[in-house]
Amino acid sequence: MILVVGGAGYIGSHMLKLLRDENEEHIVFDNFEQGHRDALLGSPSFQGDLRNPNDLLRVFEKHPDIDVVMHFAAYISVGESVREPSKYWHNNTAGVLNLVDAMRFAKVNKLVFSSTAAIFGEPQYVPIDEEHPKSPTSPYGQTKLAVEKMLSDFDRGYGLNAVCLRYFNAAGADPSGQIGEDHEPEEHLIPVAILAALGKRPAMKVFGTDYDTVDGTCVRDYVHILDLAKAHLLAVRHLRSGGESRHYNLGNGKGFSVRQVLDTTEKVIGMPVPREDGPRRPGDPATLIASSEKISRDWGWKPEYPDLETIVSHAWEWHRGHPEGYGDHPDDVVVSRK
Ligand code: UDP
Repeated sequence: MILVVGGAGYIGSHMLKLLRDENEEHIVFDNFEQGHRDALLGSPSFQGDLRNPNDLLRVFEKHPDIDVVMHFAAYISVGESVREPSKYWHNNTAGVLNLVDAMRFAKVNKLVFSSTAAIFGEPQYVPIDEEHPKSPTSPYGQTKLAVEKMLSDFDRGYGLNAVCLRYFNAAGADPSGQIGEDHEPEEHLIPVAILAALGKRPAMKVFGTDYDTVDGTCVRDYVHILDLAKAHLLAVRHLRSGGESRHYNLGNGKGFSVRQVLDTTEKVIGMPVPREDGPRRPGDPATLIASSEKISRDWGWKPEYPDLETIVSHAWEWHRGHPEGYGDHPDDVVVSRK
């Protein structure tokens, strides 16, 4: 059985969909602070918080057949991480320490961890491969890099086998339109553009038009959420067959500028995206493009939906059917602490 920590979030809920399609037994662990119960679509869940070690001990006690853990339960806003680093270090790093300790007590030694391109910081070259120097420019990136290092120590000390998947820009949605991206607040480019076009928020800001790129706006590597989910499944298979710890970068290997994404969005949705040029967002590198050659070579992973129009049209399927998102309000969770 797979324990999906943070299964009610954007990436986690797409993972659940794939696990259901593959008949993979699983249980979600989520505090529902940011996640949505409606995103579970029937997957079983256990309400708990990573910052409370007892919640973790309880879920492993209740489900002694858990053999693999996937971790998605992180705070993800770069800007917020600068303003509130404590929140990020507690949840994103100390929370994972609680998790791997609980795994140790439960004798579970397989983990798939959601890492990020933000661990690299300002790129020294692109495409960015796994060996690229790691120098995060935000507390968010620091917390993720710290976990990668912690996992290496736990591998050496306790035999924990962990696959760290470093996502570039996760985007799109399940083509069914049933699940999709719904963050509070929403900060990611494609949903922000769609919500602005729908009149659900004011004109969006283009963060910086003076970068050294094709049109002066930042270039990013957008990878379909279901392609990310598939990489997790390959990681589970690798770990279950006795495979050792690995690190992989996950992207399409192609970059698109902010303006190119906005033009594609307008084309796909058939509406203008109200936008204004604005200043740079602190901490944004000009260009981030992944090399995913290693995972392609080792496991045959290839994006099934590399095309930007397809990615945007799947996101659009979700938003046009759910202009208010899931329509729930995050639970008033009182986060329990040690
Ligand atoms: N971006 C923007 N306006 C927005 C949101 C994002 O111009 O309202 C830009 C942002 O500066 C970055 C790109 O779009 O260059 C992708 O940003 P996002 O927050 O989606 O992902 P990130 O690259 O931060 O992981």
